[in-house]
Amino acid sequence: MIAVVKIGTSSVTDETGWVDRSAITKLCGEVAAARAAGHQVIVVTSGAVGSGLPVLGLDGDRRPRDARTLQAVAAVGQSHLMATYGEALAAHDLVAGQILVAPLDFRERSQYLHARSTVLRLLELGVVPIVNENDALADDEIRFGDNDRIAALMAHLVDADLLVLLTDTAGLHTADPRLDAQASLIEEIREVDQVLEGVATGPGTVGGSGGMASKLAAAKIASWSGVRTVIGAATRPDVVRDAIDGAPGVGTVVRPHDRRLTARKLWIAFAIGASGTIAVDDGARRAIARGGTSLLAAGVTGVRGSFDVDDAVEVIGPDGVVFAKGLSRMAAADVADVAGLRSDELPDGLARYVVHADDLVVLP
Ligand code: GLU
Repeated sequence: MIAVVKIGTSSVTDETGWVDRSAITKLCGEVAAARAAGHQVIVVTSGAVGSGLPVLGLDGDRRPRDARTLQAVAAVGQSHLMATYGEALAAHDLVAGQILVAPLDFRERSQYLHARSTVLRLLELGVVPIVNENDALADDEIRFGDNDRIAALMAHLVDADLLVLLTDTAGLHTADPRLDAQASLIEEIREVDQVLEGVATGPGTVGGSGGMASKLAAAKIASWSGVRTVIGAATRPDVVRDAIDGAPGVGTVVRPHDRRLTARKLWIAFAIGASGTIAVDDGARRAIARGGTSLLAAGVTGVRGSFDVDDAVEVIGPDGVVFAKGLSRMAAADVADVAGLRSDELPDGLARYVVHADDLVVLP
């Protein structure tokens, strides 16, 4: 099978912030064992920013806040990380290949196919792809900032069977195990719903940016990509093997759906934030919910937010409930102007659709 294994900053750096060689050695040993058992593994690693800080003497109280310095720090940390992965894999006669991604790589179909082609070629060549966000060049406006989601999108990209999110707890618990002794492990999730998202409100650890909410969001993306997710402890012996084998107790398992959204719809549904809301009448709601229909001006009853052409918008019905999300072909002001108009009444020069069916996803 193909497994995408993501490991977080708190698991790849030690308490002083330096790259934790033993943690990476453990992970790479597990990757080698999985490969020996006939599986393909892609690693998504965090820790570029975290591990760069001590190298530059910018850790502790001196941790910078400005994006420019953090980007520079990431460039340093990323190369330290890669050197460590390279050495740890070499001990098993394996070679690492670095892939740095940006949101556009998942958004633009041509980039998406390009990324897929490179990663699959690396696998064919026997290389272990080591993926991170391109933190040195990503600015706050255009970055993911969270490798859980990147790992889930990678799992879709390569049509993986399994996503393993390695963290510093044994999985998702009924409460924060660091604060509540009664907290117990949730072993299986059939559907990531709002109740669960409420349980998982805890933030990540100091070093990382993930936390359980971001793990669940990633598991949801994976699930709608037809990929099973295991959230488990990075320190657990043979955690990768057990996740591949589906061993009981390995962590929290999130089941895949049998329907697989396309990359573009997955992106629209889960990877971009909405800049506004378009309200539609009941006829439009029912037509869109059936699938395959575009959102036309005639069905629009109201607009909220200030979005531009190509920005993501949520679509709500008369009950105020969000039921779809899409990319608007019109700016908010234009949508407000044409609300309720038939297509033949639209002013010249304006798109014929508010949201085209290709860019519209009925939310699962
Ligand atoms: N890409 C970030 C880094 O390597 C980590 C993002 C995350 O913690 O999810 O530092």
